[in-house]
Amino acid sequence: MSEANELRSMADLLRSGATLTSLSCPACASPLFKMRSGELWCARCKKRVVVVKEDGEIAEAVATPLLEALESTLIRKIEELNEKIRGENEIGQLQRLGEVLSTMLESLERVRRMKKRGKT
Ligand SMILES: [Zn+2]
Repeated sequence: MSEANELRSMADLLRSGATLTSLSCPACASPLFKMRSGELWCARCKKRVVVVKEDGEIAEAVATPLLEALESTLIRKIEELNEKIRGENEIGQLQRLGEVLSTMLESLERVRRMKKRGKT
């Protein structure tokens, strides 16, 4: 997108009641806008951005498409692990696979929490 287009879309955002925030986009580092709906928006990426707050502080800002991608990657990996575990009979190997599986499940849970928090 050209600089002029970018400025125009930023101006449109402001006109629609969005406000400029002190946050920057995790993907392109341009300033984020807060829409009237409360959602954060990057005018350059044309994407909604989710900000995860921990203890009242902004811990991370993650673009929603990244969360979607992470979630589907994790689900695919969990399915693969499930297949491996089913075919595995060696105890040491099963233990190792079990540990990986529980890490994956924790990550999946975290991603889903971040997605949910982004919606509120
Ligand atoms: Zn951006």
